[in-house]
Amino acid sequence: MTEKIILQAQKHLPNIDLKLISQGAEALVFQTKTHPYSHHPNLKNHQNFIIKFRPSKPYRHPKIDLQINKSRTIGEAKFIYKLNKLGIESPSLISCDFNNGIIWMENLGSYLPNGNISSFKNWLWYLEKNNLDCTSDEVKDVCFKVGELIGRLHLNEMIHGDLTTSNVILTDNDGNWKPALIDFGLSTFSGLAEDKAVDLYVLERAITSTHSVFADKYNQWLLDGYESVHSSKEFKKIGKKKYDETIRRLEDVRLRGRKRSMLG
Ligand code: AMP
Repeated sequence: MTEKIILQAQKHLPNIDLKLISQGAEALVFQTKTHPYSHHPNLKNHQNFIIKFRPSKPYRHPKIDLQINKSRTIGEAKFIYKLNKLGIESPSLISCDFNNGIIWMENLGSYLPNGNISSFKNWLWYLEKNNLDCTSDEVKDVCFKVGELIGRLHLNEMIHGDLTTSNVILTDNDGNWKPALIDFGLSTFSGLAEDKAVDLYVLERAITSTHSVFADKYNQWLLDGYESVHSSKEFKKIGKKKYDETIRRLEDVRLRGRKRSMLG
């Protein structure tokens, strides 16, 4: 099945080297050494790029399938484009082929010493498994920066929609980790405190379920970062108001989550 989908991708990307790095329900992600049209001056990693491909689903009517794939690809590309314009850390958009469900973007990942891609999740796991100091200033700083990043996203009324620790990539910035967001397949534009609270809750749950020992600390540092951008001068009183509304909602969302897990 996967081979068939890879062939489908290759058909739309003739003579392009494709190395499959991830396969989800919605899309395949490839790494490629080929740039679609030229050398891009803003790209930091000139070695390789990411191609996200949404394959057609044989069980859908071909016309509807094309529409769905096209609108999801356009939606994701628009979101990335807006993030790029706002300077919110995310892959630079390089090229799109909406009709064939293809987005070509910057590859933000680097590798951890164990060979895994430097997602926030893999990095925390790496520290925990190797008994490294999980409460160091470095960990605190990375968590705080992730919180700041989400704060900036939300202050621009943008919702990630699938904020797990795998969807935060740590980019290597001269030896310092700098978080960036990826995977905007479920992203939306919304100013609602409820939507922002759900984003925060999803991340909080992801951290609690996969990094239970230090989860409280990580979550607190994240929220500290989230609060700090809301109280910065740039956003004046409105930032504080938005922060209070979102955190109040977060309490409600947590309560709903607890009730649901008690009911099974
Ligand atoms: P996605 O389907 O967008 O969640 O991507 C699946 C996986 O591919 C992610 O968990 C990352 O490991 C990798 N990936 C996707 N986009 C990028 C990117 N721009 N830079 C680095 N890795 C990426």
